[in-house]
Amino acid sequence: MKRALISDIHGNLEALRAVLQDIKMLEVSEIYCLGDVVGYGPNPRECIDACMEFPVAILGNHDQAAIFDPDGFNPVALGAIYWTRGELEARRGNATENNRRWDFLGEMPRSRSEEGLLFVHGSPRDPTSEYVFPEDIYNRRKMDNLFERFDRYCFQGHTHIPGIFVDSQAFISPEECNYEYSLGEEKSMINVGSVGQPRDGDHRACYAVLTDDQVTFRRVDYDRDATIKKIYDIPELDNMLGDRLREGR
Ligand code: ZN
Repeated sequence: MKRALISDIHGNLEALRAVLQDIKMLEVSEIYCLGDVVGYGPNPRECIDACMEFPVAILGNHDQAAIFDPDGFNPVALGAIYWTRGELEARRGNATENNRRWDFLGEMPRSRSEEGLLFVHGSPRDPTSEYVFPEDIYNRRKMDNLFERFDRYCFQGHTHIPGIFVDSQAFISPEECNYEYSLGEEKSMINVGSVGQPRDGDHRACYAVLTDDQVTFRRVDYDRDATIKKIYDIPELDNMLGDRLREGR
């Protein structure tokens, strides 16, 4: 079975469309979304509509913040969250469609388990909000604790930095494994990167394909200028949210 694992779309419709186009060519059987469909980007409604088609869509911290009380966000992120919430309110546009989108976000699961596999947005300990950064491999306590909480492989997003944590002590970036990694005996946590706001210095949209025990990272170019212009045109979205798409930071 071949699955596409996408995460952190963040309302970036141009990036999502480019990724879906790429997925189409690969004859993938299912698409799993690991959260943060909205937040930061200019097309929350369209991105939610696309994700409703997927068999699995996990709740991200920005999805949660859009419908519940946001907690622990910086002012730029918070501004985007309130704007996103406004876009999803029933009085904006088609009320029935917006109610459907609102319900969809409200019913997203926090995690999904399948024999040996765990899918979350953040971490196995705090599926919605905990970050696991590459430098956390030096934090033995944290990593050991996280690795105790799943059987074989855990798939996640949230940091927008793709790569593989192997046996709680090494981090391998996509470049270091030439975008292909065979999962072995060691327990591993796989970060699939971000579709709509990459932060690893590569501006292209990122996602992963899982074929049996093989992980392939994909990078897809998209019309960043179109997304950046939309962000500039929405006063509630800080211009830096557009600027960072150019750098992939
Ligand atoms: Zn995110």
